[in-house]
Order: sequence, then structure tokens, then C-alpha cells
Amino acid sequence: MKNKWITLNNFYTFLMVSIIFASCNNEPKSNRQLPTASSQPPPTYRQISPIFNADSAFYFTQKQVDFGPRVTNSPEHKKCGDWIVSEFKKYADNVIEQKAQVSNFDGKKLNIRNIIAEINPSAANRILICAHWDSRPYADEDPNPANHNKPILAADDAASGVAVMIEMARVIKQKKLNIGIDFICFDAEDWGKSEHGENSYCLGSQYWGANRHTPNYKANYGILMDMVGGINAHFGMEGLSMRYAEDVVQNVWNMANQLGYSNTFVYIQQGGITDDHKYVTTLTGIPTIDIINYTDKGFAPHWHTVNDNMSIIDKNTLKAVGQTLLEVIYTQK
Ligand SMILES: [Zn+2]
Repeated sequence: MKNKWITLNNFYTFLMVSIIFASCNNEPKSNRQLPTASSQPPPTYRQISPIFNADSAFYFTQKQVDFGPRVTNSPEHKKCGDWIVSEFKKYADNVIEQKAQVSNFDGKKLNIRNIIAEINPSAANRILICAHWDSRPYADEDPNPANHNKPILAADDAASGVAVMIEMARVIKQKKLNIGIDFICFDAEDWGKSEHGENSYCLGSQYWGANRHTPNYKANYGILMDMVGGINAHFGMEGLSMRYAEDVVQNVWNMANQLGYSNTFVYIQQGGITDDHKYVTTLTGIPTIDIINYTDKGFAPHWHTVNDNMSIIDKNTLKAVGQTLLEVIYTQK
């Protein structure tokens, strides 16, 4: 993701928090830690959605990682894209491949493929759910500078999000859903570098926003997942999401907390992050939120490092996100 903007936001958040704590009290730092599951009452909510299988989502994450880094234009990228299409064809009503050529910040031509899987294509009442499927070409946040030009396996960023979508589609096929869902796997999200501006990221969603797969495509709202499989993940309420669709954020976070995932979905607002949801919202008018592993402590330690591999994927995190989103869509009026 796009740390330049975040750093600024973080700085102000830090400043605000510092001022509040400096002026109000001398509360020890430990009191500011995120709430733990044991501090919450047991959930009494009665779930209506079918079971999201975390083992299955883990397997779908592993399958993508096994191709190697899925860097746009590479053979691994092509093979993984074919696999994603074949999986969605098993479960969705229709699969569309949107192929195009775009340029990255230094003019390199990227052959991108956005993959769209439709469920109940004729339903007017629709929700868009999305994640990016490409791997970052450079581990430029790695503690070891020798790794800075190596591609990442991108298990969390964002094979995890694609895996949650495939597992959701598998489950939906087994229990009728009345609304329509469009799962979109965006390509070329992670080529960006802060020094080249925020638009150097999210090339696939920028293309899709300007060239929707169906003319005048609309959805009630959208939900983006980015890094939704990491161990000890915490999803703060991301700032742009709160601006675009606070009601959707509140609904998703409330649902997660009712299902018992209060340790993962935390009620702490964070700074804004430039991610695919920004382009979906601003280019199409579909208000879209981002579920992203980001808190006032920043991104997870494996972010944009060679450690973003299967060793940091936790089934509990995949379960929290997948079950929450299934409950959100099965309770959608
Ligand atoms: Zn990334």
C-alpha cells in the first residue's frame, strides 16, 4: 500500500493521540492496547449464513502462492490467473475476463487481467466484493536491502483476499442467496511507489473504473479486502472507507463483533489509505470500504517483505473475515 499518505496521516494521528494523552492524563501505554477477545462478552447473535470453511480458504491461498510470485506479465501470473478463472467457473454463474494493456510509472507495458465472477447476474440488488490478485514485484520494505528488488510471494497481500472470495463463492453455491454478488480480482494493484504518486498503484482498478465490465454497472456498495489472512491481524476502520461509506463500515464491524471477532475488527478509526476502493468509489460512484490489516501500529511486519509467505497466514483471520462477509450478504435486505 501507499505509505507516503499513511505516514502523514499516522503522524497526525500520533500527534493527536500524544496531545490527548499529554493533556488529559499520564495513562500508561499498556492501557491503550487493542481490546482482547476475553474482554468482550460472549456473542449471543444467531448466525444465519452458511459456514465459511477456513481450511478451504487456507488451501485457496496456498494454491496461489504455489505458483510463485504472481507479478503481472510473468508466466506465474498467467498460470495463477487461469486457475482463479477455473475456480470461479465452478461456483459463479458467469465469469468475465477483462484484458487490457496499461503502463506503469516508468512506461513499462503491463498486460493486465481483471477477473469478474457474477452471482445472480440479473439481480438489481448487488454488492461488489473485491481484492487484488497480483504480487508486488519488489520487497522494498524488507529489513534486508538485498531483498528490495525481489518479488514477494504475497500470501497475505493479497492471495488471502482472493482466497476468501473463492471460498465465499463455493459456499454461496450451496445455499441460495437472493441478492447479486460481483467478485472482482483486480490486477496490477501493487506496482506503485510512493515517489511516483499514489496513482502508480491500483492500475487494474483504475482501468476497470474507467471501463466497467458491464456498461453502467452499479452495485449498492463495495467491500475491498487487502491483507486479510495475516496472523494477529487487526482491522482498524480505515479513513477513506469512513468518508465514503461509514454506514457500511459500521455494519461490517458490528456484524464481526456480533459473531465474536471483536479482537480482529477493532473500533478504532485510522488514517486514509490509497487502495483499490478509492478508485472504485471515485470513478464509479459505488461507495466502497477497505478491510485492511492496518492500525495505529502501522502495517503488519511482513508487509512488502519476503516474509509475506504462508508462514504468516492464520486460518482464524481468514475465518473472521469470510464469515463476517457471508453474514453481511445473507442479511442484506
Ligand atoms: Zn501491497
